[in-house]
Amino acid sequence: MMGPMRPVIITANWKMNTSPADAGQLARSIADATDVAGVTRIICPPYVALAAVGEALAGTDVAVGAQNVHAESKGAYTGEISASMLAGLVTWCIIGHSERRRDQLESDMLIGYKIVRLMEAGIRPMLCVGELLEEREGGRAIETVQAQLRGALEVIVNAGHSVPTDLVIAYEPVWAIGTGKTASGKDAAEMADAIRATLAELTSPAHADATPVLYGGSVTSASIGEFLDEVAIDGALVGGASLKPDEMAGIVARAGITAAARAAA
Ligand code: PEP
Repeated sequence: MMGPMRPVIITANWKMNTSPADAGQLARSIADATDVAGVTRIICPPYVALAAVGEALAGTDVAVGAQNVHAESKGAYTGEISASMLAGLVTWCIIGHSERRRDQLESDMLIGYKIVRLMEAGIRPMLCVGELLEEREGGRAIETVQAQLRGALEVIVNAGHSVPTDLVIAYEPVWAIGTGKTASGKDAAEMADAIRATLAELTSPAHADATPVLYGGSVTSASIGEFLDEVAIDGALVGGASLKPDEMAGIVARAGITAAARAAA
């Protein structure tokens, strides 16, 4: 039974919030409030706060992640940040967040190249996928997400690489991000199964079974339990609530219950 063997992961996406002056203190408060055995904790601050957060988290097992990376390895891309620049500062990187798909018009193909760059730099990718409200209401949520996944991962295969075994997928319905609305636990689990079915086609059933799938979209300490009650869901990508140490304490405490149950299974 592979499902319960997967790690339980809680990722904080601070988006365009905090500054180098205050991010370290917030990271340390969250680390202290969430020191729960068995839960993989990741904090993703803005680029400019990566160094401060890394220093503040030294001596803890909380990992640091970036929120984005450029699809090229270097060159004339003013204002951009490459994977090799991030290496040493982060162990994780979020890619394909719906806010970037919406605002920077990121395509699945571009996102696929970003995964290749992260693989070259030894940084673990956290790939976000998710459908718009009209796609869910039109009964197209699963096909939309599967197409996003295929579009990104086929780039990796076509570039001569294998899909990385340390890939993490974050299922984030776009209509649930920052809106206070959440998907139901059942819908999130159904999507996680569909994601693993597509991954199995592109890799192998064992690879798909071992890949963590997180839920994201207005997760709070009050709603995290509904998602972690589903064996297909392995944690959460948390936006707004991740800026509040008390909320993170509640979310990670609930994740610790799932991690302990998996360890005992
Ligand atoms: C996110 O940033 O990925 C996210 C899910 O945000 P929020 O929790 O605020 O909806």
